[in-house]
Formats: sequence, C-alpha cells, structure tokens
Amino acid sequence: MEFDSELAGKLAQARALLARCQRVAAFSGAGLSAESGLSTFRDPDPDSLWSRFDPTELASVAGFEANPEGVIDWYNWRRRAHAGVQPNAAHRALASQPRMIQITQNVDNLLEQAGVASQQVYHLHGSILHDRCHNPGCTHRVAVELEAPSTSRACPRCGERMRPAVVWFGENLPQATWNRAQHLCMQLDCLLVVGTSATVYPAAGLIALARQHDSRVIVIDPSTGAAGEQADVYLAGQAGEVLPALLDGFDLASNP
Ligand code: NAD
Ligand code: ZN
Repeated sequence: MEFDSELAGKLAQARALLARCQRVAAFSGAGLSAESGLSTFRDPDPDSLWSRFDPTELASVAGFEANPEGVIDWYNWRRRAHAGVQPNAAHRALASQPRMIQITQNVDNLLEQAGVASQQVYHLHGSILHDRCHNPGCTHRVAVELEAPSTSRACPRCGERMRPAVVWFGENLPQATWNRAQHLCMQLDCLLVVGTSATVYPAAGLIALARQHDSRVIVIDPSTGAAGEQADVYLAGQAGEVLPALLDGFDLASNP
C-alpha cells in the first residue's frame, strides 16, 4: 500500500509511538466493519443507517415498547445484511495482535471471525447475533439465525417479549464489561481508536478517560470528528489500509 507523504509521515510517527508502549488496547466503532460492507450509523453516506431511519424510534426501549414488531423487523433486516459478511483487512490486522484487548461498540462478531479470542473482545453494545428476553429479571438468551431470524415472539421462560441482545439508547452498558473497559483505559500507554464518531456515550468517554490517565491516543478514521480532535496522532484513512501498515511487525499487549 502506497500512502501520500503526509499520511506516511503520520504513520511513521504512530509506529514510533507504539514502539515505546507497553500497554496498548483498541477501541473500535462501526467504521471498522465498513469495508466489510456493513453500514455505519453516522456517515454522511446516504446508505448510512441513521440517515434512513430514526434511531430514537428503532434503537430505544420506548421505540421497542411502542412498536416491537417494527423494531424487530428492522433488526432482522440488518441481520440479513450481516449474514455472509467477512472480516476485512482491518479486523485481520487487529487479530494479528493476540495479546491486545479489543474494546468495541460493534454488535457484529467480525473481530472474532478474524481470529481474536472471544475473551479478548469487550462488546460494549451487545450482539446482533443474539436475542434476549426483554425482562431484566430473566436471563434467557439465544443465538439467532442471521439468514432467517425469528419474528416477534415470547420468552419461553417468562412470557415477556424476546428482543435483540443489543444495548439501546438510554440503556445501561453490560456492567462487568464496562467496568473492565474503564479499568483497562486507566492503565494504558496508548489507545488505538478505529472508525468511531465518538458521539455515543458513555462508550465515547473512554477516549477522554484514557487521556486523563496519561495514555496517548492514535485515531484511524477518514473523517476527523470527535475522536480525531482527541488524537495525539491522527491517521486520516480507511482502517483496512492503515491498520495493516501501522501494526505490521508489532506484538502489542494490553496486559504485559
Ligand atoms: P458511527 O457510524 O457513529 O461512526 C463511524 C465512524 O467510522 C465515522 O467516524 C466514519 O468516518 C468512520 N469510518 C467510515 N468508514 C471507515 C473506514 N473504512 N475506516 C475507518 N473509519 C471509517 O459509528 P460508531 O461511532 O460506532 O457509533 C456508535 C454505534 O453504532 C454503536 O452503538 C454501534 O453499536 C453501532 N453500529 C455498529 C455496527 C456494527 O456492529 N458493524 C454498524 C453500525 C452501527
Ligand atoms: Zn424471559
């Protein structure tokens, strides 16, 4: 891959920074999976999910309770888009660092498909590959068939409605995973931020948390955004092109 001279210079700067780091973790968003063909949420791109649908209607508890069938249909449409999707060069580059923790806002499993061990991936926003019971007191959870996901149905254990096992606007993040992510970000030398607009809180707050604890921040995203503004080194490019060049030859670890 040939980069223009500005990006090549920044890449050299980022690699020099990584070479001095003991503890590195990645924090990714929808941009990581964009080159696999999955839509991001906030791109100006007319194909982007939120430019076509209202997230407050589709990805919130109130939206689900008002129109459960509509919300489930929308997720099932997204699920069919996930069926057969493959990891891209960015997922593979991250997977080439098996000792590095992957904190992700993505609800796909492309990091795992690329070979990252599941315990190394902290999914802050749940999984679109699973359904769970909407009753907070019930733990029933099942894998869904992406090509032929079930329509609206009742939980076989408690009778409440089943729903996608993702975190909606206004819901808490999975507590144990969120605690581990925060704890990790307080100990890093560098956080690699990949393909996130850094606008969805509390997840986006991890970047500031890491910085407050003296971590450096490298951002890989074609548009600057809220993440780029917090970068020590900002790499303006596609994750699938930049990450392989950035990580080549390293064996980075989050907990050496
Ligand atoms: P976002 O849509 O808000 O931002 C995506 C970012 O990715 C943008 O900054 C964009 O410039 C960047 N981007 C686009 N193409 C890129 C590429 N090839 N390489 C690098 N960066 C690229 O996404 P977000 O910040 O993750 O938003 C948060 C919510 O979106 C999360 O809750 C997440 O669950 C959800 N989401 C997940 C998926 C998925 O799991 N694949 C897909 C869409 C949305
Ligand atoms: Zn139940």
